[in-house]
Amino acid sequence: YSHNSIDPSLMDVYAKNHFPLCMRNIHENFRATHTLKYDCRLQYGFFCKGIGLSYEDCVKYWRDEFTKAMEHREFQKKYGYTIKHNYGKVGGKINYIPFNCTKIISANVGIGQQHGCPFKVWDNGYLKQKLTEYGFGPQVVTEIVNHAKEGNYQMACSAYFEYMHGRPSKEVINHPNQYFEESFNYEHE
Ligand code: SF4
Repeated sequence: YSHNSIDPSLMDVYAKNHFPLCMRNIHENFRATHTLKYDCRLQYGFFCKGIGLSYEDCVKYWRDEFTKAMEHREFQKKYGYTIKHNYGKVGGKINYIPFNCTKIISANVGIGQQHGCPFKVWDNGYLKQKLTEYGFGPQVVTEIVNHAKEGNYQMACSAYFEYMHGRPSKEVINHPNQYFEESFNYEHE
């Protein structure tokens, strides 16, 4: 998964319109708290790389946000290496592959952590509240929450896609980058 027309100044727009809920949630929390915990740095970092965010743009995106709450030097010391590592520029120089839904859904997520799949992690009340905040009507919210309740997280995600775009995804969502590609290409074709 990758394409080249990612504009790093539009991350808020992408998150709202083209990210699946797992990544939208991490992005919004990053904006709100100016920090990404370890598991988010992997789950979200690889996703962003997968959508086509370049190394340089990732550095800028993270630096602009992290330095709202820390000195530039501290950011560089704490996270400079992580980004290089995510992009395979140091260490084993591994080309990391963005996580698929199976891996994200199976993650252990503790209190206060934002990684994982929200359709699994969030309780029904919170899921309902967030979907309503995002502008989904009550019927749609009930449908999505019911999928989540039944443990059909990817069905819930596919329904989220469908109601975001007014048409279903080609296949059931099984990868956040698949979600992004289809969503992004749909609006940019
Ligand atoms: Fe993310 Fe997959 Fe969960 Fe959708 S089903 S929110 S893409 S982990």
